[in-house]
Amino acid sequence: KLVSKKWKAKPTSVDLGDGVFIKDGEMAIITGPCSIESEEQIQKVVNHCVENGIRMMRGGVFKPRTSPYAFRGMGIDGLKLWHSIASEAGVKIVTEVMQTSQIEEMYPYVDIYQVGARNSQNFNLLDELGKVDKAVMIKRGISGTIEELLQSAEYVFSGGNEKLILCERGIRTYEKASRNTLDLNAIPILKAKSHLPVIVDPSHGIGIRAYVPQMALAGVMAGADGIIYESHEIPEKAYSDGQQTLDFAQSARLAAWIRESFAMR
Ligand code: PEP
Ligand code: MN
Repeated sequence: KLVSKKWKAKPTSVDLGDGVFIKDGEMAIITGPCSIESEEQIQKVVNHCVENGIRMMRGGVFKPRTSPYAFRGMGIDGLKLWHSIASEAGVKIVTEVMQTSQIEEMYPYVDIYQVGARNSQNFNLLDELGKVDKAVMIKRGISGTIEELLQSAEYVFSGGNEKLILCERGIRTYEKASRNTLDLNAIPILKAKSHLPVIVDPSHGIGIRAYVPQMALAGVMAGADGIIYESHEIPEKAYSDGQQTLDFAQSARLAAWIRESFAMR
């Protein structure tokens, strides 16, 4: 496989411009709400990122929701609004693309196209993202194996897009005490098998706000190249995933802990 370390030994460095990288040997921090909700909310999160030296912000404008009646995102207009605020502040945008028809309309406003867990094996979407010259982050499928994640990455990489990042976000197991089971094992295994950077999402991985920081730090120590986690000014009022979202004080503390832990690794 092209994403295999056997094919390419040198770790892949994903360059997002303006000195922002996701790569082996650095610790990427990506934070932001589950969903982009309003201009005011965007501005608050962007300020939080800037104040804490966080150069990448996450947030969904197209949301894959279990219930069709749940908030499904602000759509392309939300992304345009976000881009106007974030680019001004030098903050990069990480957001989910749900279908091929969205790739082009999102293109001017996105820095990393996120492929969500539910679309991890949407092979048509992966094929099309293989033709784009912007970074792509693929989340592991809800019940996806490590091998399946690597094969999904192979679709994009073999299409010609080598700006690729893998994300461990927890898998569905028999355990019901947490939302998902964050598979820390996947981190060293993916790092050993592939030259691609690996980032960890402890928010979806455990789904319980109080435990997100320790799972994030476990991810750092397991060898991750970055952490992506959810934050919001008032998590209890978030339109989605509030139960696993940190407030800004918790997020600032976690960002500092992530950097300290990485320095000790
Ligand atoms: C998200 O990042 O908010 C999200 C929907 O994640 P996942 O696809 O991992 O469930
Ligand atoms: Mn979420």
